[in-house]
Amino acid sequence: MKVGIIGAGAAGLAAAYDLALAGIEVVVYEKASFVGGQASTFDVESTPLERGYHHLFTSDTDILSLMTEIGLADRMEWHESKVGIFYGGKIFNLVTPMDLLKFSPLSIIDRIRMGLVTMILKTKTDWKALENVTTDEWIKTWAGKRVYEVVWGPLLRGKFGDRHYKEIGMPWFWGKIHTRFASRGKSMAKELLGYPKGSFGEIFDTLAKRIESMGGKVKLSTGVKKIIIKEGKAVGLLIESDSDPKREFTETFDAILSTTPSFVFPKLVPKMPKEYENRLTKVQYMSAVLIILILDRPLTNVYWLNVADRSIPFVGLIEHTNMIDSSLYGDKHIVYLSNYLNIDHPLYKMDHKQLLAEYLPHIKKINADFNESWIVKTYYHKVGAAQPIIGVNYSQRIPDHRTPFERLYLANTTQIYPEDRGTNYSVRMGREVSKLLLKDYSLAK
Ligand SMILES: Cc1cc2nc3c(=O)[nH]c(=O)nc-3n(C[C@H](O)[C@H](O)[C@H](O)COP(=O)(O)OP(=O)(O)OC[C@H]3O[C@@H](n4cnc5c(N)ncnc54)[C@H](O)[C@@H]3O)c2cc1C
Repeated sequence: MKVGIIGAGAAGLAAAYDLALAGIEVVVYEKASFVGGQASTFDVESTPLERGYHHLFTSDTDILSLMTEIGLADRMEWHESKVGIFYGGKIFNLVTPMDLLKFSPLSIIDRIRMGLVTMILKTKTDWKALENVTTDEWIKTWAGKRVYEVVWGPLLRGKFGDRHYKEIGMPWFWGKIHTRFASRGKSMAKELLGYPKGSFGEIFDTLAKRIESMGGKVKLSTGVKKIIIKEGKAVGLLIESDSDPKREFTETFDAILSTTPSFVFPKLVPKMPKEYENRLTKVQYMSAVLIILILDRPLTNVYWLNVADRSIPFVGLIEHTNMIDSSLYGDKHIVYLSNYLNIDHPLYKMDHKQLLAEYLPHIKKINADFNESWIVKTYYHKVGAAQPIIGVNYSQRIPDHRTPFERLYLANTTQIYPEDRGTNYSVRMGREVSKLLLKDYSLAK
């Protein structure tokens, strides 16, 4: 059996690894010149760094198990998280119950209410009961207007923008609270966040090497232009590669797994049956836009800062070197300024220079001493299809991994539910779909 996989992100590589382990011949096609997809890295001071900030929670057991299987268990390091919120011109720590009790922008009653609501969500296992309500309505009703305005409303708006923040189904927020609390000890006094010693890049590079050592292939800078369908069955791929002398060629396969975003997938097949296509195209995505500042000194003392100040044009400030030692990056300090945007948003349309110029004046609001002379270098990255926008009652509309075409499978972040997207869940999904594919194939034989 020979399987073609489109995409060398977490899902595609995890699936390819399991298929190769099962003795299947796999070829992974990746249009980018690197593996890792959204969790890919580039070099800063000769050390790999994610294009978009990344960490793991202790509950991310699927990716942690895979790391153990491929010999990377000892590469994982756990760090006490420092999470804060910027509100009213000040940074407030917001990790422990004690931090919440000291959070003066809320009245004592609201602080207690926020704590209680968090505990209710943490202990609630029946997420289905929350499916028919939006996060926006639920928080306003249960946590109250003030908690919404100060803390969770800005978070929601930041992640989904003004256009979509009212649509998000409550399982998204339930999942966020669950994963965050699962990463705290019983005492809740601290939260642990994981980061692999050699970056997330090491996980994906090792997976690619393992796949190749079992006879599989991972072909970079090689995009798939079409999935060839004959009599309702996926039989091959039309491939485009800069490095291949033929540039465009076809390969035949017994089964194909695509890990492309939902809006890309229908364009790869001749004619997608309407019902399935609607399930795909109804889910829109936010894109992530990141400016990375390489500084000669620290900017804040928190790792993750939610910016709840609407006068500031970015919604997250993630100071990577407040989790990972700056000595790894030549003693430079690394700060991501992050936004999730629709592609028609004015900030999305700005180039590196314009966006940096837009952001810089606002950094002084967070640290009054900040001076542009601290900046050694800046980078700019855009990650398309970064965050699917999942509305209410999504369990009734989620697209199946088995597509309407025989032997053609889809595994992308819109199929992760009720949890939110994340490397852990893409690994889990890739592994589940490889099992599904093997089962179907042996039944069809
Ligand atoms: C800013 C940001 C921060 C994040 N932070 C975290 C975090 O802290 N922790 C965490 O666990 N997760 C985090 N995530 C989420 C995580 O990175 C993703 O959920 C996960 O990497 C998705 O993996 P995937 O394989 O499903 O998809 P992708 O990574 O999107 O992989 C799909 C691949 O398919 C390729 N492709 C698409 N079309 C074609 C084609 N036609 N031919 C060939 N190849 C094609 C793409 O180039 C891509 O490499 C973050 C994401 C972003 C954007």
